[in-house]
Amino acid sequence: MTITTDAVADLRAALPAPDSVLTDPDLLLAGSRDMADLCPAGVPLAIVRPRDTAEVSATVRIAAAHGVPVVPQGARTGLAGGANAVDGSIVISLIRLTQISVDTTARLAVVGAGVVNADLSRAAAREGLDYPPDPGSWESSTIGGNVATDAGGMCCVKYGVTSRYVAGLTVVLADGAVLHCGRYGSERAAGYDLTGLFTGSEGTLGIITEIVLRLRPARRPGRTLAAVFPTVAAAGRAITGITGSRVVPSLLELLDRTHLRAIEDYRPSGLDTGAGALLLAASDTGPGAQTELDIMAAHCERAGATELHVATDQVEADALLAARRLAHPAMERLAAQRFPGGRGGLIVDDVAVPHGRVVELVEGVIRIAESHDVLVGVVGHAGDGNFHPVIVVDLSDPAVLARGRAVFDEIMRLGLSLGGTCTGEHGVGLLKRDWLERELGPVGVRVHQAVKSALDPAGILNPGKVVLPAHDGS
Ligand SMILES: Cc1cc2nc3c(=O)[nH]c(=O)nc-3n(C[C@H](O)[C@H](O)[C@H](O)COP(=O)(O)OP(=O)(O)OC[C@H]3O[C@@H](n4cnc5c(N)ncnc54)[C@H](O)[C@@H]3O)c2cc1C
Repeated sequence: MTITTDAVADLRAALPAPDSVLTDPDLLLAGSRDMADLCPAGVPLAIVRPRDTAEVSATVRIAAAHGVPVVPQGARTGLAGGANAVDGSIVISLIRLTQISVDTTARLAVVGAGVVNADLSRAAAREGLDYPPDPGSWESSTIGGNVATDAGGMCCVKYGVTSRYVAGLTVVLADGAVLHCGRYGSERAAGYDLTGLFTGSEGTLGIITEIVLRLRPARRPGRTLAAVFPTVAAAGRAITGITGSRVVPSLLELLDRTHLRAIEDYRPSGLDTGAGALLLAASDTGPGAQTELDIMAAHCERAGATELHVATDQVEADALLAARRLAHPAMERLAAQRFPGGRGGLIVDDVAVPHGRVVELVEGVIRIAESHDVLVGVVGHAGDGNFHPVIVVDLSDPAVLARGRAVFDEIMRLGLSLGGTCTGEHGVGLLKRDWLERELGPVGVRVHQAVKSALDPAGILNPGKVVLPAHDGS
């Protein structure tokens, strides 16, 4: 009997509930990866589905005792390979940790890591409260995954990304010990900001099992504007104008022609497929919303918008946002149509630049795509300077893949040269590890490695993701 089958026997003994330890080869394969097409995934030894923090802790203790790596997973909607299994690992799926409790007095929610983002939003709304971070995957991604990647979303331009809302965490450490950090009902906790450290750590420092989240009062009614532009660059000028104005939009999203056409083809939504780009802008300041919308409309006109349309009611505004949320599946379908037989794939870039550099970024992306003759659609949380150039590739053609990869790298290089970051929201995972190193520089890498080795000296937590240990040149 090998050491790994001993580990499975120990897991079954520690987690006796049905379906807690999965070893069926088909299930292992199906659960081995997230949604990043190009990132390699290994085959895990087992997928474990604990029901509470104690079972997560027991699982990690067993993994540590057997020297087996552990890969935490939420809903596997990640776009950077962060949730991909490594060979022989124990995948810990947090999806059974679904408790939600809302404290209206403290305006806090305590949630299990497996709670789906939209379920929390709805639970908060029932109490007249709001949980703003709203990734496009909000109907499927988990709060644990959102915290682990520090996810963004459409309303983050005004309300900030996930980390702004994390008040406290329960984390299972690499030896199975349980850490509680942050302070319930207080903005500040004594000591180092451990809550901040684990937020965005992509499962490499600990496994988050429970999260205390700040909530806000429900948002006021808003107004939404759709502006049509002949080119992406013109839309970029409008973005810069709006973000430089005194208005803080509650939403500022860009869709280029490739996305508009892909979405219309996927699910007709009445979008103008002849447009070079569409900008969705909103204000949620109640009675002041129209004034803010007028200011944003003026910036759009100045930048060359050919058509401006204000949604007549919330139903129409919601329909526009719903169309925006279809961007990823629509592009997946476009890739599948372009390269049939399962060959079509996407490389999703996630570059974020300072507001003043947006036009240079979008113009540069177009130039790079043209120079490599590769189809690249651009979509993004424009108000955050966070863009997703989506590169369409034939996964079976090494030459096309190499061109796609070159486009990805050139966009990253451009983003960093403009003072940006290699990940606006999706995290580093496997996809952007090299680029993180360039962004951090040698001292930043050394500090990351020191933190990692202090918290996970045996390197069992999500190995190979984010940053490699100092001795590992692979
Ligand atoms: C259609 C679509 C739209 C998207 N839109 C957005 C968007 O607008 N904004 C955005 O930020 N992202 C977006 N994403 C990417 C993705 O949804 C986010 O990264 C999300 O936060 C991942 O959550 P998840 O539950 O799927 O986590 P997973 O993909 O399962 O995991 C993501 C990472 O977190 C780690 N992890 C997961 N749970 C835990 C835990 N409990 N403890 C420790 N580590 C953990 C994993 O190891 C992995 O490194 C989108 C993806 C899709 C498919």
